Amino acid sequence: MSAHFRFDNSYATLPAAFFARVTPAVVPAPRLIKLNRTLAAELQLDPDRLDGPEGALIFSGQKLPDGAEPIAMAYAGHQFGQFVPQLGDGRAILLGELIDRHGQRRDIQLKGSGRTPFSRSGDGRAALGPVLREYIVSEAMAALGIPTTRALAAVLTGDTVIREALLPGAVLTRVASSHIRVGTFQYFAARGDHDAVKALADHVIERHYPSIANAENKYLALLDEVVTRQAELIPRWLLVGFIHGVMNTDNTSIAGETIDYGPCAFMDAYHPGTVFSSIDQMGRYAFGNQPQIALWNLARLAECLVPLLAPQQDQAIAEAQSVLGRFSARFNAAYDTGLRRKLGLFTERGEDKALIQDLLALMATHQADFTLTFRALCADADDPDLDTTSAQFLDRDAYRAWAARWRARLALEPEHAATRPAAMRAVNPAFIPRNHRVQAVIDAGLEGDFAPFEELLTVLAHPFDDQPQFARYAEPPLAHERVLQTFCGT
Ligand code: AMP
Ligand code: MG
Ligand code: MG
Repeated sequence: MSAHFRFDNSYATLPAAFFARVTPAVVPAPRLIKLNRTLAAELQLDPDRLDGPEGALIFSGQKLPDGAEPIAMAYAGHQFGQFVPQLGDGRAILLGELIDRHGQRRDIQLKGSGRTPFSRSGDGRAALGPVLREYIVSEAMAALGIPTTRALAAVLTGDTVIREALLPGAVLTRVASSHIRVGTFQYFAARGDHDAVKALADHVIERHYPSIANAENKYLALLDEVVTRQAELIPRWLLVGFIHGVMNTDNTSIAGETIDYGPCAFMDAYHPGTVFSSIDQMGRYAFGNQPQIALWNLARLAECLVPLLAPQQDQAIAEAQSVLGRFSARFNAAYDTGLRRKLGLFTERGEDKALIQDLLALMATHQADFTLTFRALCADADDPDLDTTSAQFLDRDAYRAWAARWRARLALEPEHAATRPAAMRAVNPAFIPRNHRVQAVIDAGLEGDFAPFEELLTVLAHPFDDQPQFARYAEPPLAHERVLQTFCGT
């Protein structure tokens, strides 16, 4: 008996230009590496039935569950600032949409399941390494409470893919509230197809933003919603040291989820200029640039919507600009509040901004580990005599001078003293998917050993708990373990 997927596909009802119907490639020996049983249950799927050969067939695209309508979505996008009018799902296939246990519509997509009409010169495949990386990092982000696509399954195909080396092929099953991107709007806007832009906007409003369906100017309200989601998402990245790595407009979700984990990475030592991606030689997508890039991407969305905003173009542009103008205030509010929380500050005072900026500047100068610094502050907040955080700084005394100011500031909130350490631990993770750990998991996976993958997933499922038995996973890399570059397609 086949596993029961209750598909309810809405994107496939849009006009033909929105997608291409496709068939996943045949692969020789599909083998399930991992099923996300909790997520399967959330999607009203039967984990027992899928956690084995049946899951291997379905999540490699060899067996289509009833109701699946495999399609590749059309989209365009600015890649590193250059507009490409046609990208599209070149190695991804949307099987369909499921309504989850909470009534939310979720896309089920296979990534790495063969060529599509959008593949251009690509092979439509994914190698094992990036599949494991996306599985680990997207699930870690979810456990950190950050809006993200999810990983439902990872499968080995039994095929070999050709990269710089011959590598095992794999497929990731990705779950998203939708895969509609800024680039999806750009695809139609670039063709001057305003009817399609409108149909897409209406679809997005119905699906993601039903509360604005009756707004006076619902397309302006749509822009405002997407701006708001991005202005809330990017601070969440910055507050955990996440670098997306390829913030192209085709990798910017309309629903405000983190999407497309390619050369992404978490910082070890804090520096706003940090870049890992091998293809980002100019540092366009460096850690500290992410807010301004998000706004730039949103401006590209605004351009697509302008024809829908007002009969007069000048007026439409002015309206769009005023909505874009709200990004910075929203971003700053969320980021500043988040940073204050990381320092254990529940109230807001004029001097807080300088206190926070001075800490970040010291961390950058003295190569403090981002995650360990904030986690150590949680412990130190508990006891005025503790000074564990200073060990993160090359110059401990520079930190101690700052810490005296921090303690004086904490003393202004005596009513929060008792709950402060726990509240701080709830926003300052002990465990992030450190690059060297992800790399070690990939190296073991390439040797056929997935035990390290399982263990890392276990640790990262509870990032805010101390988990003393896994303390080694909290440690930054030793000099010889450091990963300096990450790659997109390897
Ligand atoms: P990304 O860099 O992952 O955001 O992908 C950018 C574009 O390249 C998208 O249109 C992808 O579908 C396409 N692409 C990336 N890798 C491959 C591949 N191996 N085969 C076909 N298309 C690909
Ligand atoms: Mg992409
Ligand atoms: Mg990608």
